[in-house]
Amino acid sequence: NTMFSNFIQLSDGNEMPLTGYGLWDVDAAICADQVYAAIKEGYRCFDGACDYGNEMEAGLGIARAIQDGLVQRKELFIVSKLWCTFHDPEHVKTIAQRQLSDWGLEYFNLYLIHFPVALEYVDPSKSYPPGWAASSDPNVKDVTFAHIPMHKTWAAMENLVEQGLTRSIGISNFDTQLINDLFSYARISPAVLQIEHHPYLTQPRLVNYAQARGIAITAYCSFGPQSAVAAKLANVSKLDSLLDHQLIKKISSDHDKSPSQVLLRWATQRGIAVIPKSKNLERMRQNMDMQWNLEDSEIEAISDLNQGLRLNDPVLHGFNVPVFS
Ligand code: NAD
Repeated sequence: NTMFSNFIQLSDGNEMPLTGYGLWDVDAAICADQVYAAIKEGYRCFDGACDYGNEMEAGLGIARAIQDGLVQRKELFIVSKLWCTFHDPEHVKTIAQRQLSDWGLEYFNLYLIHFPVALEYVDPSKSYPPGWAASSDPNVKDVTFAHIPMHKTWAAMENLVEQGLTRSIGISNFDTQLINDLFSYARISPAVLQIEHHPYLTQPRLVNYAQARGIAITAYCSFGPQSAVAAKLANVSKLDSLLDHQLIKKISSDHDKSPSQVLLRWATQRGIAVIPKSKNLERMRQNMDMQWNLEDSEIEAISDLNQGLRLNDPVLHGFNVPVFS
């Protein structure tokens, strides 16, 4: 029954689970245990990144789960991302190898360009992960751009596939113009586009454009302001929570599901993957339940909540990186 399929077919022939476990903001100290617990609960896809600073710990959780016979490597779908300071083709392979070695893996299932922004190289021996501003002083918010055209970074990403370091490659936080440009030179099409996508920021043009070109979408910030509130972004704390929104609450009680499940199903039922994270076992289970459907009219009503509200923008964190218009 494709209606309840738990996988997305990628354009390169690989399959990606519709639900994954996001690793941003998972403390390194508890990350191995979280990953282990998530595998035990049935999660097979993990969304990591150099920038999250917990790849080694995530890898330890995976190694333990494999050792204990909970799962085999081939059943897992491990995602990681190229950070902005490593866009120079001469750094792409070296950093991907370092990330693989941190995870203790021989290959990633999917490796994404985290942001379409090339920043000045930072030697990992000086600072790792370097973050937006490569300064050890947290008050320094200036960034230094690097002049590296995307076609060079993408060619290096394609080499990673050919050399077996990753099965699929993709992009994150790209907009239509740059994706269109990318298709003019890509030998390997991006399999996945990971973007902020929730009822307050639906990005219908970008989603339709990408899907029409065979790019699978992964949504982040599925709960909208929830993650920004958790990240203590003062300017969004006043926003109406989506989890408490009247419409979401009404639909969730009609289906006997939680508001969070409605927000996730709103995405997955349209073939959009989600990567929520919770430390709470009950929520971890809830967030994976895809064996039910919303009415089309409910999906449309939820989409109508769109207000073009972007939450994951480095400018909101004080960094002068105008990635988004
Ligand atoms: P998230 O999934 O952590 O969700 C936000 C908040 O919701 C968290 O505080 C969590 O505790 C809470 N929550 C989780 N399940 C819940 C439930 N069932 N009921 C109530 N509350 C619940 O955060 P996110 O920002 O949506 O990020 C998800 C993942 O997306 C990240 O871990 C990361 O892997 C990825 N991400 C990628 C980018 C990018 O630039 N590519 C940016 C942001 C996040």
